[in-house]
Amino acid sequence: MTDIILSLSNIYKSFTQGKTTLNILNGANLEIKKGEIVALIGPSGSGKSTLLYTAGLLDKIDSGEIVIDGKNCNKLSDNAKTKIRLQKMGFVYQQHNLFADFTALENVMLPMLVNGKSKKQAKIEATQKLEKVGLGERINHKPSELSGGEQQRVAIARALANNPALLLADEPTGNLDPYNSESVFENLLNLVKNDGMTAFIATHNPELAKKMDRQIALVEGKLYDIKNADDKAFLKTNPIGKKILDAFK
Ligand code: ADP
Ligand code: MG
Repeated sequence: MTDIILSLSNIYKSFTQGKTTLNILNGANLEIKKGEIVALIGPSGSGKSTLLYTAGLLDKIDSGEIVIDGKNCNKLSDNAKTKIRLQKMGFVYQQHNLFADFTALENVMLPMLVNGKSKKQAKIEATQKLEKVGLGERINHKPSELSGGEQQRVAIARALANNPALLLADEPTGNLDPYNSESVFENLLNLVKNDGMTAFIATHNPELAKKMDRQIALVEGKLYDIKNADDKAFLKTNPIGKKILDAFK
């Protein structure tokens, strides 16, 4: 058994549009241990979403190695990747991405049913998840009948549906007003901490990032731990890195 839940080794990923190639990930390395809550920081356009999508097996990498909970994911078929996502990972996007025709309860039940749980059991557990995000009274509402903050809480409950080994969240409160952003974020962090879960959460908000165990900066396609001495030494020499360090003083 390994206590490393996510291992990224030398990840490269580029996008080609016409004659231009953008090298977004340029040899990114990271290890996240069980129970750690890690912030992914970096300015808009630095590649945070790209990194999370590739770590979440939602997008392919050009080269490198991704190991999730001890399983090397490089050569897996699409079906096998889907299975790992379903069983080991939860994903919270910036937009809630809920099914509009389904109630909150049904949205949270869905990944449980796909994973083989009985309808009865899924209903019990989905109700519990919704209670944990403070929506016990709203389980039969459809997304359009909920506020932005509530929709995002449902999305969090859905991401936690199958008790994932790894929660990936991409600016999960980025579309909310400051008050809702803070309360939804606190709720998310508390849930993750109380259940000893492992999470990797992108945010460009330093105040939110400070509440996590580690802060990892994405700069020019590589990852740097802002508290690691060597990494810090590099960040100081880089204009973007310097700005990031200043925000965490
Ligand atoms: P962040 O989440 O940090 O804002 P992204 O990962 O969304 O950054 O994007 C990083 C860069 O990659 C941006 O310049 C973006 O335009 C580009 N990019 C992202 N996805 C694609 C894509 N599918 N095709 C082409 N370019 C993309
Ligand atoms: Mg993004």
